[in-house]
Amino acid sequence: MCDRVVGEGGGFQATGAAARMYHPNVLSPPEACPALVLNADYTPLSYYPLSLWPWQTAIKAAFLERVDIVAEYDRVIRSPSFEMKIPSVIALRQYVRPASHPAFTRFNLFLRDRFACQYCGAGHDLTFDHVVPRAYGGRTTWENVTTACAPCNLKKGGRTPAEAHMSLHQRPFQPATHHLQENGRGFPPHYLHDTWRDYLYWDTELLA
Ligand SMILES: [Zn+2]
Repeated sequence: MCDRVVGEGGGFQATGAAARMYHPNVLSPPEACPALVLNADYTPLSYYPLSLWPWQTAIKAAFLERVDIVAEYDRVIRSPSFEMKIPSVIALRQYVRPASHPAFTRFNLFLRDRFACQYCGAGHDLTFDHVVPRAYGGRTTWENVTTACAPCNLKKGGRTPAEAHMSLHQRPFQPATHHLQENGRGFPPHYLHDTWRDYLYWDTELLA
């Protein structure tokens, strides 16, 4: 890993000093050092998926003066003409207005429903359900598609929730970007570099 890594579930952890005790070949290549990308207001460009750029892209953007380097890994890359630390956090110089309405995709739909079946709450074996069945003219839209586990989907079949005597935890709706970002905070990625924490909302102390 790049230097200090905070992982979930007992993932690899090493401080910069500890990492340097190992032979360099044991360390991961620089491809594993993504930069957290912040908007010009120093909030993440997106939470879920977390806005990360490969280190090559981050360095290129820094050279083009499109971003400021906010924090760095201990890891240094060298070429014959220069050397620099790999950026771990960068901020765009120009503010990018987030889209107010996210795209209607499978992933975003699951995220709106917090990866849980809207009939029974199960968090696995997830599929999509047309609340008003397609055979009844139900459309494939934010307002008519919900997350359902396979057993609930099977049980409901081609019926409406009323016909199937099943109730929804939440009526399907078109989410705003901030809804998905809020939900996304509940699902932090496995890899969080130390320098990212100041810019994210996954600090456990803040949640306490
Ligand atoms: Zn279910």
